[in-house]
Amino acid sequence: MAKRFVIIGGGPAGNSAATYAARLGAEVTMIEKDIVGGAAHLWDCIPSKAMIATGGALTMINRSSGMGLTDVSASLDFDALRARIKNIGGRLERSTTGLLESQGVTMIRGTGHLTGPNTVAVESAEGTSEIEADVILLATGSRPRIPEWASVDGQRLLTTRDAYPPPELPEHLVVVGSGVTGVEFVHMFSAFGCEVTLIVSRQQVLPAKDPEVAAALEADFIGRGVHLLKGARAIAAEVDADGVTVICDDGRQARGSHALLAIGSVPNSESLGLGNAGVDCDYGYVVVNHNCQSSVPHIYAAGDLSGKLPLSSVATMQGRKIAEHAMGLHVGPHRHLDYEKAASAIFTVPEIADVGLAEADAFAEGRKIRVTKVPFSANAKALIDDDPRGFVKIISDPATGVVLGGSIVGSHAAELISVIALAVTAGLRVNDIYESLLVHPALAEALSDAAE
Ligand SMILES: Cc1cc2nc3c(=O)[nH]c(=O)nc-3n(C[C@H](O)[C@H](O)[C@H](O)COP(=O)(O)OP(=O)(O)OC[C@H]3O[C@@H](n4cnc5c(N)ncnc54)[C@H](O)[C@@H]3O)c2cc1C
Repeated sequence: MAKRFVIIGGGPAGNSAATYAARLGAEVTMIEKDIVGGAAHLWDCIPSKAMIATGGALTMINRSSGMGLTDVSASLDFDALRARIKNIGGRLERSTTGLLESQGVTMIRGTGHLTGPNTVAVESAEGTSEIEADVILLATGSRPRIPEWASVDGQRLLTTRDAYPPPELPEHLVVVGSGVTGVEFVHMFSAFGCEVTLIVSRQQVLPAKDPEVAAALEADFIGRGVHLLKGARAIAAEVDADGVTVICDDGRQARGSHALLAIGSVPNSESLGLGNAGVDCDYGYVVVNHNCQSSVPHIYAAGDLSGKLPLSSVATMQGRKIAEHAMGLHVGPHRHLDYEKAASAIFTVPEIADVGLAEADAFAEGRKIRVTKVPFSANAKALIDDDPRGFVKIISDPATGVVLGGSIVGSHAAELISVIALAVTAGLRVNDIYESLLVHPALAEALSDAAE
């Protein structure tokens, strides 16, 4: 008899597990309360990148005088952008649903929770039912963290869920939080011509990133007129008819027409019935081993709920690995996920991407590394594209030449980092990159120059 595989949550983690498990012969049921595709399609990755793409096009057109053009300008049609985001979301939902249907996955629109180690209750429009399962995947994701002091109204004081797109285009947006999500908002709304203030709790935007990378972004923000309030921790937000005042712990205040909280997320686990099945959690995140198994081995958790890297790409790969593991394919070529080798990107301008070992971490560990860095100002394609900002940095082992990590700041960094990510995962040497015969002229040539 086929294994009964029940998945709660239809985001990237749930979808990929459902597709692969069904392909491997499982009888898959997926329970999703909102839309197939999850928060990633509805509020996070897709709408954010769609808005950033429009902001990027706007910026490019308005600075195209450097390309030898005159009288070229564009302005934002906010309603058209709204429609575009909805359209992309709808298309992705249809294609994801179509793929799941083609694999024979049973989809239930409803809310699921565990009632025991092998049973899941579903509340749907049709009432409550219970499903028996041999394998269960918990993939319910996370939601924005809202501090006690904030009364989010979705009109003036927003979380990321209200901002793609926001109810109206802010005249002046105060962004609280300078991590990846916060800086993407700063970039996007300043590209739309809004005045932006960023509240940075430390002395560096992107506190977890290479200081050189963060400095490049900070310089760009300052050049665009973004106000930076550094070393300031928001402790209150007062909303009135005209706007929001954000108050910081040192008494400084930032006043805007709107304010947006980008200060992390919390897992969606409190209504999952974890205790009914004996599943352990830590601060709401399901505790998992390297196979994404919880304390109950046939109950897995993936995506943001697993407390690993909160990235759609990681969630997708976890789902796939879980399907392989649950269906007995974890012998032979199966490799465990190595979260330290996950590439990530920040879709600002300049774009930022990194993978593997960071220079600052190697330094802190007292580890010997070789660092080679090449600016895009020496790259023909970057000059042709009139965007020579940024650099490529490759970190390798000085003894073996094996590539350990890298970071890229500049146009198409999110695409270019794939080469370094492949090298890090496959254990390639800098010479392997250097000796690849690349296209000319191409931004990728900066990679082989940095590998020289
Ligand atoms: C603003 C923003 C931008 C981002 N941009 C990127 C990006 O560019 N690239 C990237 O890799 N990552 C990005 N991320 C992170 C990415 O969105 C998440 O890591 C990813 O969505 C996690 O996938 P998931 O499957 O764990 O959960 P989700 O995508 O959150 O999906 C979980 C699903 O479970 C459903 N659900 C919850 N509880 C239940 C229940 N009890 N019963 C039934 N269904 C339930 C929800 O409705 C939801 O559909 C971004 C995040 C944010 C906040």
